[in-house]
Amino acid sequence: MHRRKFCQATLIAGGALALSPWLRAAGAEVHATNTSGKQLTIAASAVDDLAAGLRGPLLLPGNAAYDEARQVLNPTIDKHPALIVQPSGVADVMRAVQFAQDHSLATAIKCGGHSASGKGTVDGGLQVDLSRFRHVRIDRSRRVAHVSGGSLLGAMDHEALAHGLVTTAGTVSHTGVGGLATGGGFGRLGRKYGLTLDNILAAEVVSADGRLRRASAEDHPDLYWGVRGGGSNFGVVTGFEFQLHPMRREVLLGNFIYPYAKLRDALAFYAEFAPNAPDELQIDLIYGFPPGNDQGFVFFQNVWCGKESEGRKLFEQYASLGKPIRETVAMTDYEVIQRSGDWDAPRATATYMKGGFLSAFTPGLIDDIVDGMEPGGGRSTMMIFQQAGGAIGRVPTDATAFPHRYAEFNMMATIGWAPDQAADPHKQWIKAYWRKLAPYTHGFYTVEADDDNASQWDRNYQGNFARMVEVKRRYDPNNIFRLNANVSPA
Ligand SMILES: Cc1cc2nc3c(=O)[nH]c(=O)nc-3n(C[C@H](O)[C@H](O)[C@H](O)COP(=O)(O)OP(=O)(O)OC[C@H]3O[C@@H](n4cnc5c(N)ncnc54)[C@H](O)[C@@H]3O)c2cc1C
Repeated sequence: MHRRKFCQATLIAGGALALSPWLRAAGAEVHATNTSGKQLTIAASAVDDLAAGLRGPLLLPGNAAYDEARQVLNPTIDKHPALIVQPSGVADVMRAVQFAQDHSLATAIKCGGHSASGKGTVDGGLQVDLSRFRHVRIDRSRRVAHVSGGSLLGAMDHEALAHGLVTTAGTVSHTGVGGLATGGGFGRLGRKYGLTLDNILAAEVVSADGRLRRASAEDHPDLYWGVRGGGSNFGVVTGFEFQLHPMRREVLLGNFIYPYAKLRDALAFYAEFAPNAPDELQIDLIYGFPPGNDQGFVFFQNVWCGKESEGRKLFEQYASLGKPIRETVAMTDYEVIQRSGDWDAPRATATYMKGGFLSAFTPGLIDDIVDGMEPGGGRSTMMIFQQAGGAIGRVPTDATAFPHRYAEFNMMATIGWAPDQAADPHKQWIKAYWRKLAPYTHGFYTVEADDDNASQWDRNYQGNFARMVEVKRRYDPNNIFRLNANVSPA
């Protein structure tokens, strides 16, 4: 009898040791940097209190899981948060944000970790790593997806398509819904159904005071307006409700690959064909030089979600570019297409990019694009055009915080290299190339920009900036959420 009680007690204690995150953090004071840049020491008792109030883990430097949690997709980013909370649910997010507010800690939110400039992590502040907070539920009768704030795009596509439903998502399935949907959300169905953020019906947001609010057209409409384009400026989105649209699984895919020598003709064709195409067609154009390849390629990917015969007819226009090296025109499972751009080894390549929106291909642009591009030797040098327009452009500029409704294309110049090489020469090369192209652009996609653009955040929000400041003052007056295209409340 005594022995059984002893065993039970040992098991309970053992279970507590294995499961209670606060035991792992106990006794540790934490060195952090506050939002004014001041070094501070957070007492062990405060850290213990935080850990005791969480169901998910609190990770500190030295914990086994800390290094993986602080990592993001881009291997050139190497930041060390003072504390990392991995919430198991909304209550943990509220607790973590309240703690950050109490100690004036800059708070990074990591969802998919795809921010190229590493906005999902932070030096010396608090990181809310949402990787344990992934859940998608489809309300089939209302055609609504309920998506938790840490979810990845692939899960949303997968669950929705099982019901013959879909909404716009980006082109790489391991990108986070959190960053993409609050910043914009261009994708293969964007011209038909708008940006991902245009499909947000409601968001649950933990703002800087640690309170959870529902943001929708009826509840906190200012916050609802702001989270659709303002990124993490106003808080952590713990849950999204997205409008879904009926769609059959198979769409018409048209992949056309041409020799690099065709680039000038290809750009001229794209400039004319793409903007005049029906909303059911979305065309991305990618060209350049993979590492070690000085032949290069020009690749058009067309996704047509309308009637098959009409799509095939449209694709016949590619004949004007001559014979492609390779051509695939086939009805294809949309989820397979959505996964086709996934990275096999996500942290194997260091990358840097510059980008901006185009409302048209104005004279001179094609010459400047073609003239500066060259094979990268051991590195990749690529240009990507993601098509916008259609339904994206029909939303009024001030309807959401995202103002770039005039954009017909997002033009991106990218460079990739082995992570053990120095980054600077590669960054300098692409920046020099971009200097000629930037004057053709009008605004840029905030989620892809880096701190080079920091002095332009306000201008880039265009006519929406003044309202952004008002909303920021209401929901994050001390600017703890500054790891983003930041709106200063000052
Ligand atoms: C390989 C690749 C492909 C891409 N393809 C596309 C594409 O097709 N279309 C497109 O539009 N964009 C695309 N992007 C850009 C991408 O949308 C942005 O980088 C986006 O910010 C990534 O979101 P994340 O959650 O993965 O990133 P993270 O690095 O985790 O977060 C990025 C930003 O979002 C904020 N954030 C994250 N989660 C939340 C949340 N729950 N609540 C509030 N704020 C949050 C963070 O604070 C941070 O500022 C791509 C990027 C990469 C690297």
